Amino acid sequence: MAKQAVAAYQKCINPDCGAEFDCGQALFKCPNCGDLLDVLYNWDKIEVPDKLSDFRKRWARRDNRLDFSGVWRFRELLNFCKDKHKVTIGEGQTILQRNDAIAAYVDVKPACLYLQYEGLNPSGSFKDNGMSAAFSHAMVVGAKSCACASTGNTSASMSLYAHHCGLKSTVFIGSGLIAFGKLSQSMDYGAQTIQILGDFDDCMRQVQHVCSKLGMYLLNSLNPFRLEGQKTIMYRIMEQLGWEVPDWIVVPGGNLGNSSAFGKAFLELKELGLIERIPRIAIINATGAATLSDLVNNKRLLWNQGNVEQGVIDEYYADLTARGFSPHTCASAIEISRPVNLKKCLRTIEICRGVVRAVTDEEICDAKAIVGKYGLGCEPASAASIAGLKHLRAEGVIGADERIACVLTGHPLKDPNVTVDYHKQGQGQFSNQPAEVANDFDEIIKLVNRING
Ligand SMILES: *Cc1c(COP(=O)(O)O)cnc(C)c1O
Ligand SMILES: [Zn+2]
Repeated sequence: MAKQAVAAYQKCINPDCGAEFDCGQALFKCPNCGDLLDVLYNWDKIEVPDKLSDFRKRWARRDNRLDFSGVWRFRELLNFCKDKHKVTIGEGQTILQRNDAIAAYVDVKPACLYLQYEGLNPSGSFKDNGMSAAFSHAMVVGAKSCACASTGNTSASMSLYAHHCGLKSTVFIGSGLIAFGKLSQSMDYGAQTIQILGDFDDCMRQVQHVCSKLGMYLLNSLNPFRLEGQKTIMYRIMEQLGWEVPDWIVVPGGNLGNSSAFGKAFLELKELGLIERIPRIAIINATGAATLSDLVNNKRLLWNQGNVEQGVIDEYYADLTARGFSPHTCASAIEISRPVNLKKCLRTIEICRGVVRAVTDEEICDAKAIVGKYGLGCEPASAASIAGLKHLRAEGVIGADERIACVLTGHPLKDPNVTVDYHKQGQGQFSNQPAEVANDFDEIIKLVNRING
């Protein structure tokens, strides 16, 4: 293929392979070596605006569906398909909230902490950013049916976009490992749910085989086009900071699609001369699913120009298998022990001088309660970012006057069980227990007076 002739192409991330493919193919892994694929651009074939603030002009044309979309508003930066193929259901209408009360909780100065509410997306999580891009690619290749393995939000988002595009959709979930808010969505949106007697990592392995055997379009974040859509989360954070780059991005890490996309976004902007400086990134695992933290902090695994020591990863996974290890955390969206985007995430860590931490379920639930009490709320996995930031402040890795954007990945109603249990059972320091009273007016008045203090 003459890659110079096209605006976008796919390329294997393995430097020993580096095979290239056109965007008209649905591959998901390099057919030569099995490594991950990137979507890359010939920027001289694309009319990229001279400065990021030029994108703001599109706000005036919000009757155009592509200008309204918080993904396609930035379409020159993910220019892999024609406009007629672009899929949108109005994703990316998110807000970046300055939150001084939560800043105080994590010990940073006022006006330094910003929360990016991705729960405001149509299906209630950031996954919609990626789905609008990946379904556009599905239109390019003429896909008729699609599938994903999911801890919940991928399936909710995929099912919504699938019925919008007229595709049949199948969702693979591990038994008992999905929050009810999310499961209810994919059933409601018309997907076929298949429960596998195993965990997420088992589902992830099976769905790849099913998709290649049956020619179905795969929508996990292995799909490089999904990550192109997720880059726009970073563009919108900068947009809301007046096109300034924050000092830190903090994000929960599960399958590591987001962190991989964010590093790529900043690298491209730097190469295009649209930003001068790349922010640092902190990726937060749960302690019960801490593969990235173990490999980076304990095994010192590095990107190393793409020459990742595969032996270290293989040995780590072999040990998980030998121990019969299954990840466990109340933050079900990051309950993953074999993250498919591990290598791309290592690249992000290099690009953004990243750090990785793991936080306990107790810390996650307390942080979630704080985001509920002082912010707009979020689901457990999202709150890992706040809990991780608190760690990094205590260690002094992040300074009290640095400007930080935490990505709150999902909506609070995704997982009401964790929230209700935390409050009702008095599990943490911010539990807000309901009170009971006799069906008696005077008793009720007494109680309400006590509450009003
Ligand atoms: C998918 C998901 C994550 C994990 O994101 P990765 O890109 O897989 O690391 C975190 N939080 C929520 C709410 C999610 O849905
Ligand atoms: Zn390859």
